[in-house]
Amino acid sequence: MPEAQVHPHPATSPLVRDRLFIANRWVAPHGSGFIDVIDPASETAIGRIPAGDDVDADAAVQAARAAFDAWSATAPAERAGYLARIAEGLRARSEELARLIAGEVGMPLKLAAAIQVGSPIAIFADYARLAGEVEWERQVGHSRVLREAVGVVACITPWNYPLHQIAAKVGAALAAGCTVVLKPSEVAPLNAFVLAEVIEAAGLPAGVFNLVTGYGPAAGEALVRHPDVDMVSFTGSTAAGRRIGEVAATTVKRVALELGGKSAAVILPDADLAAAVKGTLSACFLNSGQTCSAHTRMLVPETLYDEAARLAVQAASAFTVGDPLQPGVKLGPLASPAQRDRVRAYIRRGLEEGATLLCGGPEAPEGLAIGCYVQPTVFGNVDPSSTIAQEEIFGPVLSIVTYRDEDDAVRIANDTPYGLGGAVWAGSDEHAIAVARRLRTGQVDINGGGFNGRAPFGGYKQSGNGRELGTYGLDEFLEYKSLQCKP
Ligand code: NAD
Repeated sequence: MPEAQVHPHPATSPLVRDRLFIANRWVAPHGSGFIDVIDPASETAIGRIPAGDDVDADAAVQAARAAFDAWSATAPAERAGYLARIAEGLRARSEELARLIAGEVGMPLKLAAAIQVGSPIAIFADYARLAGEVEWERQVGHSRVLREAVGVVACITPWNYPLHQIAAKVGAALAAGCTVVLKPSEVAPLNAFVLAEVIEAAGLPAGVFNLVTGYGPAAGEALVRHPDVDMVSFTGSTAAGRRIGEVAATTVKRVALELGGKSAAVILPDADLAAAVKGTLSACFLNSGQTCSAHTRMLVPETLYDEAARLAVQAASAFTVGDPLQPGVKLGPLASPAQRDRVRAYIRRGLEEGATLLCGGPEAPEGLAIGCYVQPTVFGNVDPSSTIAQEEIFGPVLSIVTYRDEDDAVRIANDTPYGLGGAVWAGSDEHAIAVARRLRTGQVDINGGGFNGRAPFGGYKQSGNGRELGTYGLDEFLEYKSLQCKP
C-alpha cells in the first residue's frame, strides 16, 4: 500500500447520522435506507446519512410553511442577530469542519480551512449585515413598493464547495425572511449536519431551517415538485438544473440555477505570459479542478504557443498530488470514485481526439493506486470544438487552444453552451476590460483578480440564471409588492 494510505486517516472514524432535522427536532427518516459517505483518499466509508424520501420532504416543507408567517414578520435586525450567531457557531467549530470537509471532498486541509470553512462563515456574517441594509419600502409616485420574502425555499446544493454553496443560499434566504428546507449533496452531506446543530444552538424558531438528506431524484425532486415550495435555489450540474426547471414549471415556482461552466482564460499578446499561465493553472486546478468557474481552456496567441505550453507544464509540476491531510499536498483526490472515472475517461477522449498530451494522463498518479486521484493533466493543440474543449470535465485537466487575433479569441471563448466565468490577461487592465466586456459570462477575472464574496456570482447561457452572494443574492429571495394608494 502506498505510504500516503497507511497512516490512520483522522477522517475515517464513521460519522453515522440517522436523523433528519425538521421543526427543530432530530427525527427518524420515513424510509430505512442509508447512503454511505466515502472518503475519496482511502475509498472507505467515513459516515452514513439517511436516504430521505418524499414523505420526509413533505414533513420538512410543512414545518417550513408553518414557520413562514412569523419568521417573515420578524424585524430584519432580529434575523441579523440569528445570522450573526450562526456565523459565530460555525467559527467555533471551524477546525472540526475543515477536517470533515477535507475528508468528504478531498481538498487539502489548509485550503479547506480557508475556503471551505472561512468563506461560509464570512457569508453568514455578511448576510447578518445585509439584512439590515435592504430597502424594505420605497415610495414610487403614488405607490408604496414593498420587498417581501418569497416564501418557503428549497435549497439544493452540490458537493464541490458544500458549505459555501449552502451558506450562499441559506444565509440569503434567512436574511430575506424565507424559511428553508436544505437538501445537501449526498456526496458531501456531513458538514450540513454540523450547520443544523449550529442553527439549533443559535435558537432559530422551529421550522425556519430544516434539513432533509437523500438522493436528488428522490428527496430533491420531491421538494421541487412540492406545491408548498415557493422557490427552488439550485446549484449543480446543467443536466440536473434542466430537469429541475422542467419539474418546477408545473407549479410555476421561482427557480434560481447555478450550473456548470467551461470558462476560458484569454491571454493576450501583451500580457505577462508567465504570470498569466501560472494564474490560469491555479484557477484550473483549484479543488482538483472541481470548481464550476475553473479556467479550463487557456487561449493563447498562435505565436506564443510553444512558450505557453512549456510554462504550463512547469506550473503543473508544482501541484503535488496526495493525501489531503498531509502537509505540502496541493492536489487532493477527486471527490468520488465516479468523478475520478469520469475525468480519466475525458482524458482518454482527449487522446482519441488527437490533442497533444503535454503532461499527466489517464493512469493513476505514481504510488496512488488507492484513492480517487487524477494526475494534473495539460493538453496542447486542442481543437476548440472537441469534446474536452466543450464539455465540463470537473477535474485537473487544462486544454490549451490557440487563436489568430483578438476577434478569434473572443469567438472561441464564447463558443460553448456555458457562460459562467473566465479571465483576461493583458498588458493593462483597460485592455483586459475591453475584451472582458465582449465575453458572454457572469464573471471575468482581470489580470489575476479573483473571487469577491460580495459581488454577484452566476452564469449566462446554460450556466444558469439568477445571482448569488451579497445584496444580489439576497434580492433573489425577495418579491416586490406594490400598494397603490390614491394619488
Ligand atoms: P448534481 O447536479 O449531480 O447534484 C447537485 C444537487 O442536486 C445534489 O444535491 C443532488 O442530489 C441534487 N439533484 C440531482 N438531481 C436532482 C433532481 N432531479 N431533482 C432535485 N435535485 C437533484 O451536481 P454535483 O455533481 O453535485 O455538482 C457538480 C456540478 O455543480 C458541476 O456541474 C458544477 O459546475 C456545478 N456547480 C455550479 C456552481 C455555480 O455556482 N454555477 C457551483 C458549484 C458547482
